[in-house]
Amino acid sequence: MATAPQKKPAIKAGKKKGAAPEARRAGPGFRGKPSFLGNLVTTVLIFLLLMSLYSLVDGFIQPNETIPLSAVASDVTAGKVKSIVVHGDSLDLTYADGVVKESQKDPSAGLPETLATYGVTPEQLMKVPMTVQGQSGFDFWFMALAPTLLSLAFVAILFWFLTRQVRGAGMQALSFGQSKARVTDPADAAQRVTFADVAGAREAKEELVEIVDFLRNPKKFLDIGARIPKGIILMGAPGTGKTLLARAVAGEAGVPFFSISGSEFVEMFVGVGASRVRDLFQLAKKAAPAIIFVDEIDAVGRARGAGMGGGNDEREQTLNQILVEMDGFEPAEKVVVIAATNRPDVLDPALLRPGRFDRRVTIDLPDRRDREEILKIHAQKKPLGPDVALAVIAERTPGFSGAELYSLMNEGAILAARENRNEITQYDLIRSIEKVMLGPERKSHLLSKREKELTAYHEAGHALVSSLLEHADPVHKISIISRGRAAGYTLKLPFDDRKMQSKKQFLDDIAATLGGYAAEELLFDDVTTGPSNDLRVITALAREMVTRYGMSDALGPIAFGERELGHEPYSEKVAAEIDAEVSHIIEGAKARAIKAINEHRDALDAIAKELIEKETIERIEFEKILLANGIMPKKREEDESGAV
Ligand code: ADP
Ligand code: ZN
Ligand code: MG
Repeated sequence: MATAPQKKPAIKAGKKKGAAPEARRAGPGFRGKPSFLGNLVTTVLIFLLLMSLYSLVDGFIQPNETIPLSAVASDVTAGKVKSIVVHGDSLDLTYADGVVKESQKDPSAGLPETLATYGVTPEQLMKVPMTVQGQSGFDFWFMALAPTLLSLAFVAILFWFLTRQVRGAGMQALSFGQSKARVTDPADAAQRVTFADVAGAREAKEELVEIVDFLRNPKKFLDIGARIPKGIILMGAPGTGKTLLARAVAGEAGVPFFSISGSEFVEMFVGVGASRVRDLFQLAKKAAPAIIFVDEIDAVGRARGAGMGGGNDEREQTLNQILVEMDGFEPAEKVVVIAATNRPDVLDPALLRPGRFDRRVTIDLPDRRDREEILKIHAQKKPLGPDVALAVIAERTPGFSGAELYSLMNEGAILAARENRNEITQYDLIRSIEKVMLGPERKSHLLSKREKELTAYHEAGHALVSSLLEHADPVHKISIISRGRAAGYTLKLPFDDRKMQSKKQFLDDIAATLGGYAAEELLFDDVTTGPSNDLRVITALAREMVTRYGMSDALGPIAFGERELGHEPYSEKVAAEIDAEVSHIIEGAKARAIKAINEHRDALDAIAKELIEKETIERIEFEKILLANGIMPKKREEDESGAV
């Protein structure tokens, strides 16, 4: 049971186009991950192979028969031996018939003495020419050293495998502190992003064109003594294209893009983050001109002292290292650091000081025209039917981010493909709006008769109160088909893309959101768990009105600090006053919702009845019911222009 005004439930963007899934990792920290067992088997196999090779060679070189010394003695006595070659203690005997045999002599005595003890006479010995060779033959050395060399080689190979293993397994014992940056090569056309891929964000692009110019032609700027910003911070809601823009700068300038996320630093042990930063900057400087992109910089760049203890040291060291590196940039360094955050409010002021991230670029949620442009970009490779009007889709998606528009287009294509059509129709896109906004329909989620009635009255309550209060947004669709976590929903569309909201709008918004709760209470004299999300939303909104926007009469125009764990930026007394003001606002809104419903009970019944019957009411039918019950529907600009 949810209302869906411009404050939509946060949704995760679909697969991001520019997210570079295959981006390769810089630095040696990354290798494949073969299984440990596989490595062991390979190592053993290689070892066995070497061993058999060794014995083969060994066999080649010593194919001769080896005979005992006694046999040598008797052969010499018999005059069968033609010559003897002595090297060391080995004897090579060449026989008269050409056969070669080998033998070993006693190392402690010379050959003549040895043979003499076997009874060879000096005369017999004289007949056999005897040569003594030094032990320097290749095969001698090879044979002597091979076993040692082979075992050394074995150990080396084993070590190499284990090292690989350790790195691959992410234990990172050896690649500690290596930068985990992903790098995108400018020559990689498949991953190249340019400004043409980014719709809207005009101011941001204008700001960044200067950086592109500098990276393309640094000499021009340096010669004239211009100081180019070292750091630019992109600020904007999630999915507004911060990452995309940073990549586009690299793409336009044709320089390598080193990207890393602040949240990646916040792991492991103290000091690792800092050494990673050092590595990253070193890599980038080597590749200069280059861009370093630090996503989610708020993860390391939170104001010091804020937040919860633990891990602070690591964050601080990482942050300090980033600052040290940036401060140490030579003017001719040609490395530009781009950071992104969706929490600029929590950033450490040290980051924003001159010479650091002194350029700030805000990226707003796209307005209607930009939304149409973004839709066009993402429709490029998708065949659209003749009835598709992206302008209408853009009109119906206030508050959507670029990422949400991207997934809307994608959902539309999925719907068409599922129904085996080769073109996307307008209806596919319209259905996708709600899917992206609220999650998929849950048709299988069957409501009992009472649940259906309750849901119908709840949604009718939202819709009716919205239509009756002057500053609430007009209703554009009501449904009791459950979607995502909501049992039903009421879609409201603001008149225009407003950047600012007034106190009156907030108050009417809260009342309309309480319309569901009020209807349940009034009709069933009971309250269900259904409106729990409604209550969370309005409580947060009322609290913001009091503490951030100074919209409370009792407390006045004061912005109170954010409450963080263990840190109370205001006194107990003020905290109690804030709570009192919040409930004052909510009670007032509830009273107005109840009054509106009581005064137009017939309209409420009529809307609920129609909902129970049809499950979904579009704007035109809804306004007919209002008119039939004497309520003037709200006028919209588009009514004049004739658009749907
Ligand atoms: P952020 O980094 O601000 O959270 P991303 O840059 O990751 O947002 O945007 C996610 C995706 O949304 C992009 O890859 C792109 O497909 C789409 N997108 C966002 N903004 C735009 C835009 N202005 N123009 C075109 N596509 C966009
Ligand atoms: Zn509700
Ligand atoms: Mg991003």
